Amino acid sequence: MSSRARILVLHPALGPLDYRVPQGMAVEPGSIVVVPIGPRQYAGVVWEPERLPTEEIGDNRLRNLIAVADAPPIPEPVRRLVEWTADYYLSPPSAVLAMAVRTSAAFESAPTITEYRATGVVPERLTPQRAQALERIGERQGLVRELATIADVSEGVIRGLCKVGAIEAVTVDTDSPYPLPDPAFGPPELSREQSDVAGILRQSVEAASFQPFLLDGVTGSGKTEVYFEAIAAAITAGQQTIVLLPEIALTEPFLTRFAARFGCEPVAWHSGLRTSQRRRAWRAIASGEALVTVGARSALFLPYPKLGLIVVDEAHETSFKQEEGVHYHARDVAVMRGRFEDCPVILASATPAIESRHQVELGRYAELKLPGRFGVAELPDIEAIDLIKEPPDRGRWLSPRLILAIDAALERGEQSLLFLNRRGYAPLTLCRHCGHRFQCPNCTAWMVEHRLIRRLACHHCGHTVPTPEICPECEEADSLVACGPGVERIADEAALLWPNAEIAIVTSDTMWSPAKAAEFVQRMEHKDIDIVVGTQLVTKGYHFPNLTVVGVVDADLGLDGGDLRAAERTFQQIMQVSGRAGRGEKPGSVFIQTHAPDARVMHALVSGDSAAFYAAETEARREAGAPPYGRYAAIIVSSEDKAAADETARMIGRTAPRRDEMHVYGPAPAPLAMLRGRHRFRLLVHARRAFDVQDMIRDWLGALEWSAKVRVAVDVDPYSF
Ligand code: ADP
Ligand code: ZN
Repeated sequence: MSSRARILVLHPALGPLDYRVPQGMAVEPGSIVVVPIGPRQYAGVVWEPERLPTEEIGDNRLRNLIAVADAPPIPEPVRRLVEWTADYYLSPPSAVLAMAVRTSAAFESAPTITEYRATGVVPERLTPQRAQALERIGERQGLVRELATIADVSEGVIRGLCKVGAIEAVTVDTDSPYPLPDPAFGPPELSREQSDVAGILRQSVEAASFQPFLLDGVTGSGKTEVYFEAIAAAITAGQQTIVLLPEIALTEPFLTRFAARFGCEPVAWHSGLRTSQRRRAWRAIASGEALVTVGARSALFLPYPKLGLIVVDEAHETSFKQEEGVHYHARDVAVMRGRFEDCPVILASATPAIESRHQVELGRYAELKLPGRFGVAELPDIEAIDLIKEPPDRGRWLSPRLILAIDAALERGEQSLLFLNRRGYAPLTLCRHCGHRFQCPNCTAWMVEHRLIRRLACHHCGHTVPTPEICPECEEADSLVACGPGVERIADEAALLWPNAEIAIVTSDTMWSPAKAAEFVQRMEHKDIDIVVGTQLVTKGYHFPNLTVVGVVDADLGLDGGDLRAAERTFQQIMQVSGRAGRGEKPGSVFIQTHAPDARVMHALVSGDSAAFYAAETEARREAGAPPYGRYAAIIVSSEDKAAADETARMIGRTAPRRDEMHVYGPAPAPLAMLRGRHRFRLLVHARRAFDVQDMIRDWLGALEWSAKVRVAVDVDPYSF
């Protein structure tokens, strides 16, 4: 009798498949294996057959497993999480599994990897490409492929540089252990309030049972210090912790802060890691040796064998919602993982999402509050500036009151922050002669002018073109005008107003790596920067005691459009950026420029009455049957062939089931009607909370067929409307 195994193959288009386990090979559920598919080999994971039903094939048709990886099996809670995520977000289990198993990391059992770096030798024949490569690579190190990407040259150029001695191979040990964080290294003296909350969290970690906490504390109240105490308890118990951050850019300051508390840095996990770093981190995590991991969304699916605590910092952030591939919300998946692992989950936020507050009301999450800022720091004073009554000068964007406040801050030697959530110089460029507007050829979006690189760029697909000198339509010269401000334009205005001030632009264009983020923090701390002009990248996490004035250039920006979370998001974002002001001994002040000073959200910000704002927003959601009182799911039908997408979307619409508990709207062109060259149509399902939307959609779409050039994706609990 041959023994067979059901394998979930890491190939998003394939379901579970059965294989024969050859004699002498031992596998168990969770084992990582190599399987043949046609002439090729894929990685997969052994699964419990009863949990992944599939059509069984006869013994005589079974092919043999090729190998078992020299890596610990994927733990049971992770397998359950993969199943839950696939079910809830209507995604193939294999696509979810791919987030947990990074094949190269799981498979390579070799303890070392070969990387390359510059030697400082200048080659005799220095072609422009070689010069560019050496300049961009600088001190960096990586695989040939990675260096080629960094340098934007072909791999051949890198290999050529190797031959002439300008680049050398180095052996990197990917099995070297990480230092152990020491809970007693630098504990703070907690305030009474902080210590009460920390005590509850510590106990919960020790009890090792599932409990979500909503840690609700104003910016600067010490949420981080407090959840560090929970991490200390987990370390003491020999348990692993995941800390999820909403942006890679926040990793670097977190590492430093963690090291100050625990004596060494935690393990970082994010898309910016080199292969060697990724492999080392994966193996240390999967073996249980790495006790604390900090990372982006994807860190959530890694195979920690003894997870004791999950922290989601800035838990209200919408960047936790993944919008590509598997459309999951990391905050919600984090709670599920805590449930499968029997461990506490801490959602920390100064402005919790309405959904999270609702869970508190339902008694599912425990609420922990830190109402005041730590120490002498006070919350900043917030004022609204009515742009109708106090307009900026013509062609300018900063109003007189904000300018005076920054004048005064400069006078006092303090720092200011101008916040505008728009990269580039201007969001729209048009020809004043013929009215031509520059649109992306691949997306329904205007091209955004970036003066620093002298190009127009699409913020959706990344397409760029050199900024034209003449209008391509009417061929008029000097007729192009920039409409509206981006951060670069605000920085120009600031440079005109304060010619002696040091101004820094902080966006993903200028701060694209952890090293750049670290450099920014250092320049701020050394007071080398007087005025920061930045996007949402600067609103979170940073602690700059000398920053006292914050100006929100356009508070109305997020309020446009039909997004049900628009007001909530505006509130969160402005509270977040306000939280950067006056974090030290010096008081802070915040100025919100708006055309709608009477809007509920502006009132709430100015009066500080967030409770009233939340109550009103929550009531509006209840009346509309919107989340958390109802649910949505979006079905996005896309194709390069517009007619095919349109036709499929209509066919799906025609076959929509009729049920009392739900209603299907559309199809209609999606909010981004074209994206990356694909035409998009959308159907929106709106249902009662208790209705099993997933089951209905599975049955509905499962019975339909469409052309191979059409893609149908489902977004459960969508964020972008
Ligand atoms: P939050 O995460 O709520 O924004 P932080 O934990 O970042 O707040 O705390 C804000 C600042 O106050 C940080 O510089 C932090 O080190 C400091 N702080 C908070 N609590 C304490 C404490 N008990 N002892 C010393 N410093 C503290
Ligand atoms: Zn585009």
